[in-house]
Amino acid sequence: MSLIDDALSANESLADDNDPDRAKPPAPRIAIVTCADPRLSGILRMLGLADADVDMIRNVGTVIDDDSVRSLVISTRVLGTTEIMIINHDGCGLTTFTDGELEDRLRRETGMSPIAPARFYSFTDPEQNTREQVQKVRSHPWISPEVPVRGFVYDLATRRLTEVHEESAAGQPD
Ligand SMILES: [Zn+2]
Repeated sequence: MSLIDDALSANESLADDNDPDRAKPPAPRIAIVTCADPRLSGILRMLGLADADVDMIRNVGTVIDDDSVRSLVISTRVLGTTEIMIINHDGCGLTTFTDGELEDRLRRETGMSPIAPARFYSFTDPEQNTREQVQKVRSHPWISPEVPVRGFVYDLATRRLTEVHEESAAGQPD
């Protein structure tokens, strides 16, 4: 049996417990963009945040792309979140290859060159990458300048966050 079948069985065997409050509209206070890596699935507990307070936006590599911007615009403009955290991490799978290497491999394995995805957003330095993602959000005209956007790198082993600060004009962190 597959894990999907296991999940369906478990769901079917849930005790009857109809609580209409669960279907009420959400009112999250903060948006968090982080990696889809399963090692980050428990991150709200490390941050002491309640599920209901967080609009969680996850993709592989903590990328600010068209889709995560779409989610952040809706999060801040429609759902009413007032702060944005971007949480990258050490040991991300996207540091284990370059876009070119993966594309070459996929072309070899499939014999095809599709037009999408245009990028895989591989990176080497989580700190620098986080800085770039913060800048992409910060510069978006539909994200209000009143919404703080702060970037962090999460250390998987220690579970500690380190804040990533913007670089000054001289190229050094402030
Ligand atoms: Zn990752």
